[in-house]
Amino acid sequence: MTARRIFGIETEYGITCAPPAGRGAAVEAAGADAADGEGAPRVITADDAARYLFRKVVQWGRSSNVFLRNGARLYLDVGSHPEYATAECDDVHQLVVNDRAGESILDEMTEDANELLAEEGVPGTIHLFKNNVDSFGNSFGCHENYLVRRRRDFQAMGDALVPFFITRQILTGAGHIRPRAAGGASYAFSQRADQMWDAMSSATTRSRPIINTRDEPHADADLYRRMHVIVGDSSVAETTTMLKVGMTDLLLAMLEDGVRLRDLAMAEPMRAIREISHDMTATVPVELSSGRRMSALQMQEEFLTRVTGYLDSTGQTAELTEIQRRVLELWERGLRALREQDPSLVETELDWAIKGRLLERYRARHTLALDDPRVARLSLAYHDISARWGLATTLAARGLMARITTDEEVREAIVTPPPSTRARLRGEFVAAAQERRRDITVDWVHLKINDAAQRTVVLKDPFSPTDERVDKLLAALQA
Ligand code: ATP
Ligand code: MG
Ligand code: MG
Repeated sequence: MTARRIFGIETEYGITCAPPAGRGAAVEAAGADAADGEGAPRVITADDAARYLFRKVVQWGRSSNVFLRNGARLYLDVGSHPEYATAECDDVHQLVVNDRAGESILDEMTEDANELLAEEGVPGTIHLFKNNVDSFGNSFGCHENYLVRRRRDFQAMGDALVPFFITRQILTGAGHIRPRAAGGASYAFSQRADQMWDAMSSATTRSRPIINTRDEPHADADLYRRMHVIVGDSSVAETTTMLKVGMTDLLLAMLEDGVRLRDLAMAEPMRAIREISHDMTATVPVELSSGRRMSALQMQEEFLTRVTGYLDSTGQTAELTEIQRRVLELWERGLRALREQDPSLVETELDWAIKGRLLERYRARHTLALDDPRVARLSLAYHDISARWGLATTLAARGLMARITTDEEVREAIVTPPPSTRARLRGEFVAAAQERRRDITVDWVHLKINDAAQRTVVLKDPFSPTDERVDKLLAALQA
């Protein structure tokens, strides 16, 4: 095993309320990949839909920004997308489970909200999408968080990561129909690539960087930093999430050990990210700062070679966990699929390939162009998180989408925090407060009882699932 690390994923969901005509119209209204922004008329606005979605949460939490008993944060900003941030995990499998638990929680909230709509006679159905762009061109994100040890060269580490993130999309992109591409509609690797404007910056909204450098570690600032990655597509397939986070974790282990990758810096990163997304062969070269030209495929092969070389030379290969081995195997196979132009090698595991196959088969069956609205609808249904309307459940049941979690694990993670990190303390605190109907305030590092004494505990170590001060706080809550 490489050094233990804390991970978390934040997902912003697309939301829409579709007219009663049914699912077809639903997707048109949201139209992530739709050819235009018109679609079917909206019944209630997305803002109103979000308010229905959060009504119950606001009733019990008295806020639309709450921490749950599984340690996660559920959040609705004014005029924005519902967001779920997983609790701190210390293992990739655990993180995938917790991310799925978030989807289940939001799916259940959607079902409740749709019942409310029906009760109140409001026509339409709310849909939530795990994707990154709506038909109006608004982009919303999926942030990955990686705890790293604080060192003086955070910037150098970020510089090394930028070309990795720019090329990672050929494996972990969600697949995206670009309806107005030059020369007609085309299929691209990533939904997010066209929306990124900066390599590194401390602002998220204005410049939308690949890495957000705002120094907010949610942990002991003397020891740690949080690598806050904004660039990734939201992943539908569990194996894509697994690869996305797992490969980044292994590369970070190497970088934290002082290995540098200066020779892979790109001459024009923001141009490269778009070109690479649009080139489904992954072989068109982009220019490096050194003047050398390399394709995304070659670069990812280089990253993989250096990571496996590093693990071998440091004697860590034999100690890799099962999930880390799966990550390396899928990383290698994904690159082979691209090199051999044979997506069938990963067609149940990587979103762009799973979705690509789905769309291709549908188009062939009905002789449809890529920019046909029916294709856009199918593409969007791939991202619908509903167990009822979304395609993921069906695809998984038919063996067309791999899974690494069990339903039981996911159900458990809806109500139970990861047992091995700080999240456990938060989860127990929230659960105790809910049971005793006590007023508390919680964030990633603070637990506070809102009474006369205002007792507060600061949890600066995200690795620690136990704390005597919290035991006392729990006793005070239960008194
Ligand atoms: P914003 O939504 O404005 O980007 P943010 O990134 O600070 O804010 P959240 O949306 O609350 O915050 O999500 C934080 C994520 O980081 C969660 O998924 C959480 O599990 C994870 N996290 C918390 N502490 C750490 C840490 N010390 N290192 C890495 N990840 C962490
Ligand atoms: Mg967030
Ligand atoms: Mg964030």
